[in-house]
Amino acid sequence: MKTTNDPIFIKEAIKTSSDMWFLGWCEANGGNISQRLEPDKMAGLPLAVKSDWTPARVSLPNLAGEKFMFSGTTRFLRNISIAPEKNLGVIEMDSKGENYRVLWGFEPEGRPTSELPAHLKSHSVAKEVSEGADHVVIHTHTPNLIALTYLHELTTPLLSKLLWQSHVECVVGFPQGIEFIPWMMAGGDEIADATAVAFRKRSMAMWQHHGVFARGRNLDAAFGLIHMADKAAGIYLKAMAAGGMRCAPSTDVVCRIAANFHVTPAPDCIDA
Ligand code: 13P
Ligand code: ZN
Repeated sequence: MKTTNDPIFIKEAIKTSSDMWFLGWCEANGGNISQRLEPDKMAGLPLAVKSDWTPARVSLPNLAGEKFMFSGTTRFLRNISIAPEKNLGVIEMDSKGENYRVLWGFEPEGRPTSELPAHLKSHSVAKEVSEGADHVVIHTHTPNLIALTYLHELTTPLLSKLLWQSHVECVVGFPQGIEFIPWMMAGGDEIADATAVAFRKRSMAMWQHHGVFARGRNLDAAFGLIHMADKAAGIYLKAMAAGGMRCAPSTDVVCRIAANFHVTPAPDCIDA
């Protein structure tokens, strides 16, 4: 495993992607990660222009000039630990936030994830609504959350409340709930737009029959949200398989836990 002299963002990506792999979240090339990079995270990294400007299929002025770490399309997250320079890359956005060029990585040649528009549109909203605090977007194929989308006709309130009631600390971790996004084609503009809209209100979005998106200030924060939600989904599935949720915590209990931790559950979910 490469770690010693790597820049901080590579060390963080190795830790997170390895954990995602061991949890069974990223089969083959499933899932992708990105981080908006401040200079301190890249210290020691040799940057050089490695590609022409390439359309990113977005127009996001608030990302003009920003640099990002991205996992590469078709690359396996589980291999970041052994070859970060092949499986990750650093890109730079142009002055309009419309095109990108590669400055490092994706060796010997490659490009960012096919979910680039969803990540960039999510970063744009995340940067705006968090006033610059959020730097990370993770997309991954969490088995328990995905299974839920095969079990119930979900809505955002149904899914959010189901998770809050299946693991009582969830309402503290994601009081804004989790957006449910009905099936749309992966990699497309429609699902990218829907995810970005969701991130105006919430930190997670669930793509039906596919996987989850989360934003956070760093990889740990986004990873933690997904871990919490997928664990709650797993508890729900176990209880259902063992005969059903016969004594789940009530809405009142969820609200009391939220109040104890000084958070407010999203009214459009808790009151549904
Ligand atoms: P990429 O290999 O392009 O990152 O795609 C993986 C994925 O999960 C698509 O939704
Ligand atoms: Zn996916």
